[in-house]
Amino acid sequence: MSYLRQSIIDMAGYVPGFQPPDEKDWLKLNTNENPFPPSPRVLAAIQAATNGDLRKYPDATCRAGREAAAALYGYSDDWVILANGSDELLNNLIRASAGEGDEIGFLNPSYSYYATLAEIQGAKVRTFNFTDEREIVDFPDLYQGKLFFLTNPNAPLGLTWTVDEVANLSDRCAGLLVVDEAYADFSDGNCLDLVRLKQNVVVTRTLSKSYSLAGMRLGLAITRPEVIAALDKIRDHYNLDRLAQAAAVAALEDQGYLLNCVAQVCATRDWFREELAKRGYHVLPSGGNYVFASPPDRNGRRVYDSLYSRKILVRYFSDPALSHGLRISIGTREQMEVTLQALSEIG
Ligand SMILES: *Cc1c(COP(=O)(O)O)cnc(C)c1O
Repeated sequence: MSYLRQSIIDMAGYVPGFQPPDEKDWLKLNTNENPFPPSPRVLAAIQAATNGDLRKYPDATCRAGREAAAALYGYSDDWVILANGSDELLNNLIRASAGEGDEIGFLNPSYSYYATLAEIQGAKVRTFNFTDEREIVDFPDLYQGKLFFLTNPNAPLGLTWTVDEVANLSDRCAGLLVVDEAYADFSDGNCLDLVRLKQNVVVTRTLSKSYSLAGMRLGLAITRPEVIAALDKIRDHYNLDRLAQAAAVAALEDQGYLLNCVAQVCATRDWFREELAKRGYHVLPSGGNYVFASPPDRNGRRVYDSLYSRKILVRYFSDPALSHGLRISIGTREQMEVTLQALSEIG
C-alpha cells in the first residue's frame, strides 16, 4: 500500500525543455528564451533589493507590482494579480474553476503543461484540433467545460487568433476562457480589452519571454475582480519574493527597453522565416519569438539530431501531429545565421 494518491503515482509528469548542463557550449533555441539580457534597470532593482531587508517577509499583496501592471495595461489594481511565473496562474485557474471530475479544454497542439495541471487536480481534459486557417474543429455552440485555454499566439505553431475570433470564442464558452498570452508582446494584437467586455475572459502574461526574465519566475493575470479574489485566496501568500517584486516593477516600467528587444526579435524572426522558405522549408506565420518549421522531407527528428550534433538545441515533439517539424526559438541575428548555415549543410 502506498501513502500517495494513485493518480499521482500513475501520472507521467511534465517534461520541461532540455537544459544542457554545459550551457555555455550550446546554442540554445529550445525554450523560447530571449537572447537579450534583462533591462539594466531590472538588474539594478534586484541588486538594490539584495540587502538586509531580505530578513523580512515580502509584501504579501505585491502592491507595487500590481500597481505597475495596472497602470501599464489600463486597469485598476483589483483586476490584476502577479504570480511566481504564469505557470502558477494556469494552475490556480484550474484549481479555482474545476473540481475533481470536471472538464477543462484546450487546443491540440498547445502548451502541454495544461494537461499535467488538470491531471493533478483530477480534472478531465478535452482537446480540439484546428486548421492552418485557425478554424477550431468540432467546437460546440456552447462548450460546457469549466475552463478553456486558448494559447494565443499558439505555441508551438505560432498562429494567432484575432480579437474578434477570441470574442466569438468567449461567447461559446460556458466557463472561463483563459487567453494565455505568453507571447503577445511579439504579435500585433492582444486580448486585453476583451477582459472589460466579456465576463468570462482571463488574460495571462509572463515576463519570462519578452522581458528576458525566465530565471526570475514572474507572470500576471488580468481579469474581473471576483476571479482575481479567488486566485488571491488560492495562491501561496508570499508567492513573490522581494527580489522578484522589485524586478517586476522595474521591468514593467521600462517599456522602452522591452519594445526595443521585441522589435529586434520580431525583425529577426521574419527574416529567418523567409530564409527558411528559400531553403524549401514550410514555415507558418508566427506571432511568437519562435517559428515552427518543417523541412522538405518532413522529418523533424533527422534535422533535430543533426543540429544537436552541432550543439544547436531546438525543440522536437514526437507527437505525430508535430513530428514533421521543429520549433526554433529566435535568438540574435548572428545566432540565426549560424543556425541557417548549419541547416544548409544538413540539407
Ligand atoms: C513559457 C510559457 C508559459 C510559462 O510562463 P512562465 O511565466 O515562465 O511560467 C505559459 N504558457 C505558454 C504558452 C508558454 O509558452
